[in-house]
Amino acid sequence: MTDRKHELAANLAKVEQRITDACAAAGRPRQDVTLIVVTKTYPADDVRILSELGVRHVAENRDQDAAPKAAACSDLPLSWHFVGQLQTNKVRSVVGYADVVQSVDRARLVTALSKEAVRAGREVGCLLQVALDAEEGGRGERGGVPPAGIEELADLVAGSEGLRLDGLMTVAPLSGEYAGRQQAAFEHLMDLSTRVRRTHPAANMVSAGMSADLEQAVAAGATHVRVGTAVLGVRPRLG
Ligand SMILES: *Cc1c(COP(=O)(O)O)cnc(C)c1O
Repeated sequence: MTDRKHELAANLAKVEQRITDACAAAGRPRQDVTLIVVTKTYPADDVRILSELGVRHVAENRDQDAAPKAAACSDLPLSWHFVGQLQTNKVRSVVGYADVVQSVDRARLVTALSKEAVRAGREVGCLLQVALDAEEGGRGERGGVPPAGIEELADLVAGSEGLRLDGLMTVAPLSGEYAGRQQAAFEHLMDLSTRVRRTHPAANMVSAGMSADLEQAVAAGATHVRVGTAVLGVRPRLG
């Protein structure tokens, strides 16, 4: 084993233990929570090692980096999640490799995703990114639809050809009423998910929690955690 493979294996084991402990504390079965490793800023070689170590879900947030990485790893049994703010001019590229887009936050993006998914003959899973810090009518600092806009956007995704409404995603807000209160934020997301599932019962993914707050997300009921630095190390640059 290379040094890097040892390092990633050790980090993965620690994260796995954290998820297992968080599930036990919450009285949830371990298999209720899926680990998505956020590989942004790290090379395709690391993605390959992660795949060898049993990782099945990876996430990226910039198409410029993700597209070549996904191409270099197209032989691996991986699901690719797109978790970054997405401009409509990147949609065609992203639809080429993403199985799930977790950052769907506006109608124009839904229209573009649908058009490109149909053109590519693919079905793309969509999570609505919820901005828990958004003012009424506005979008979150890091993108996201405000809670009041979820229902309309969910209906739009569900009615769009080539798209599948999979659920909700959030990033714990750094400011506003939920600053420093990750678990309360994630519990709010769960309530919003319950509401969405009344009309869209299959949209049962709840993506929340990162390296610093995955325990709070699991406690709140998240089905997917997105972990970058705890597996790959502190990123060399902002990503
Ligand atoms: C980078 C990123 C993560 C992972 O964050 P870490 O703190 O490195 O675990 C999760 N979600 C999104 C949307 C990200 O951009």
